[in-house]
Amino acid sequence: ITSKLPDTGTTIFSVMSALAAQHQAVNLGQGFPDFPMNAALVARVNEAMQQGFNQYAPMQGHMLLREVLAEKAAYLYGSRIDPDTQITITPGGTYGIYTAITTVLHPGDEVIVFQPCYDSYIPNIRVNGAIPVLVDLQFPEYRIDWEAVKRSITSRTRMIMLNTPHNPTGAVLSAEDIEQLRAIVTGTPILILSDEVYEHLIYDNIPHQSMLRYPDLLERSFVTFSFGKLYHCTGWKLGYCVSSPALMQEFRKVHQYNCFSCHTPSQVALASFLQEKDSYLQLSGFMQAKRDYFAQLMGHTRFTPLASHGSYFQCYQYHRISDEGAADFAVRLTKEAGVATVPVSAFYQSGKDHRVLRFCFAKKEETLQKAVEQLMKV
Ligand code: PMP
Ligand code: GLN
Repeated sequence: ITSKLPDTGTTIFSVMSALAAQHQAVNLGQGFPDFPMNAALVARVNEAMQQGFNQYAPMQGHMLLREVLAEKAAYLYGSRIDPDTQITITPGGTYGIYTAITTVLHPGDEVIVFQPCYDSYIPNIRVNGAIPVLVDLQFPEYRIDWEAVKRSITSRTRMIMLNTPHNPTGAVLSAEDIEQLRAIVTGTPILILSDEVYEHLIYDNIPHQSMLRYPDLLERSFVTFSFGKLYHCTGWKLGYCVSSPALMQEFRKVHQYNCFSCHTPSQVALASFLQEKDSYLQLSGFMQAKRDYFAQLMGHTRFTPLASHGSYFQCYQYHRISDEGAADFAVRLTKEAGVATVPVSAFYQSGKDHRVLRFCFAKKEETLQKAVEQLMKV
């Protein structure tokens, strides 16, 4: 066959997790919690199964779940979202992103993508025959250079992809960024894909700049979320997408013939669990404590921190330890120090390397301690 993605290898998350397992390294690479999820939510899935919620959910998702998500958006962001026409439950955030891209992009369309970026974006664009137009975030704060965005827009620009809080850097968008974005897209056919899977993982009392706050922007947006990040169950692969009724109608045309619908008992369980606001309001404080704990431990090493205001990732420079490239250094660190990370260079299509590693701090204190004990030796 002629590959549709000739330049795409195996995702860095699989590569680093496999290497971690092979060398019995502490895995701070791939982003997932190593502590148990809430037992009450597990019990509710069990109950839902026992109550017989074991057949197909509606294609759009379980209605009670969509209703509670619309209420949550109203409570947090003042948005007025119709659960019937504007929300679809998806098998994870990744699927929501892929489906949104596939729904609207035609071959030759251009998409503004900020790099470093989550590793699925560019292959998702390319497999649809569309063209990623890369704009570098400004190192080391990883802020958006809006003048560079303006210079990258052409008559073929169809979409701008945003991710706040940002993976891998932990950068977050500000209200000023939203104004810049609005000035660029208003009066154009440019759509927005806003990946907000780390919606609740935002720290230092910074408000999350969700597209759900801005009706004029939501009109042209797909906004994607993940329950895996929200409730520490990445293995559930469940999330949702919010959009305008017109865009969502098109999204569902693709979704209905791809997976059709998602795991029913977990949707029933989530619909009841989400009614307890504390179940999501506590997440930021819980994870900020982990960020701060990890940062304090890492202060005993020769790694140099960059700022992280969100996500469950913290980036570090290692220029006081080595002048190797990040990919090589990450492999050596896994093998020799027994700590797996992700090289941030893997999130750059252009191969740019600021010699930065990404560490996931969504781990038990003992895991973070063990990792840092080993990192202190390098
Ligand atoms: N977007 C970003 C930025 C992510 O970090 C992740 C997950 N790790 C996803 C999307 C995908 O979420 P899910 O696991 O629900 O597919
Ligand atoms: N989002 C997670 C990360 O950035 C991993 C997701 C995956 O393995 N596909 O590490």
